[in-house]
Amino acid sequence: MKIFQNKYLLLILIGIILILVLMLVYLSFRGRKDKVNQNLQTTATVDIVPSPSPTESSVATNKQEILDKYAGREAQEWGDSTSGVIKDFTAQGKQIALTLDACPRSTDQSFDKRLIDYLAQNNIPATLFISGSWAEKNRENLDEIVKNPNFEIENHGMDHKPCSSKGESAFGVKGTENVSEIYDEIETSANLLEEFTGKKVKFYRSGTGYADEICVGVAEDIGEKVVNWSLAADGGATYSKDKIESLLDQIESGQIAIVHMNHPEGPNAEAIIESIPKLQSAGFDFVKLEDVIN
Ligand SMILES: [Zn+2]
Repeated sequence: MKIFQNKYLLLILIGIILILVLMLVYLSFRGRKDKVNQNLQTTATVDIVPSPSPTESSVATNKQEILDKYAGREAQEWGDSTSGVIKDFTAQGKQIALTLDACPRSTDQSFDKRLIDYLAQNNIPATLFISGSWAEKNRENLDEIVKNPNFEIENHGMDHKPCSSKGESAFGVKGTENVSEIYDEIETSANLLEEFTGKKVKFYRSGTGYADEICVGVAEDIGEKVVNWSLAADGGATYSKDKIESLLDQIESGQIAIVHMNHPEGPNAEAIIESIPKLQSAGFDFVKLEDVIN
């Protein structure tokens, strides 16, 4: 052909063909590489997606995270008014919160049925801080109590220990020794109460109410705010009927009162049963903590 008679044109044509061939080789190589990368990514994704884990392993992960978070920290506060502890609430009008503690006792594991029945029959809302060890011995009673929607069940710790990250005591009661024990004291009881009542607890009150700031942090990490009181109305179930009545008579809006429901031998029921109608006449409404604390 005439075109090939010009050697320059022939060289240009060969050059173009060579470039086209090289481009084709390059594109084909890149396509394969992308495919390999895609496969690698897919494989990697499959590898890092965790398989659905049973509750136990996720609880253990949380506990380890909490242990790591507080490692090396030392608590500075100790008492029932430690930073972060809720003691009252913002009232809408004349509202007060009655909280009843069910602490375990070595001698008597029963409870003040008179008091609970009175509250139930008169539709008085109340928040019950139940310790896990009390709940274990009162499963049937608790089943009966939770049928009433006016009763809110919250966490009073598994073994009713003061909540310390370094083994402090309160009123002669030995507290938890470290963060691991704090976690177990709060979480074991929370799980048990959820199993018994079908509801997750939102608040925690330690045995004796004593806590350090690391305990308050751990409880919040677990998902429970620490709630104590601004009116100790029965002095740890030691006050007389008159004294309980006179203290309740002075309650103010937004206050959280604590009494005990595990001393049926004491004057608590009688004092509270006489105080409640007077407080209602004075215009007070009783509220559950879950309705007033976010
Ligand atoms: Zn208690």
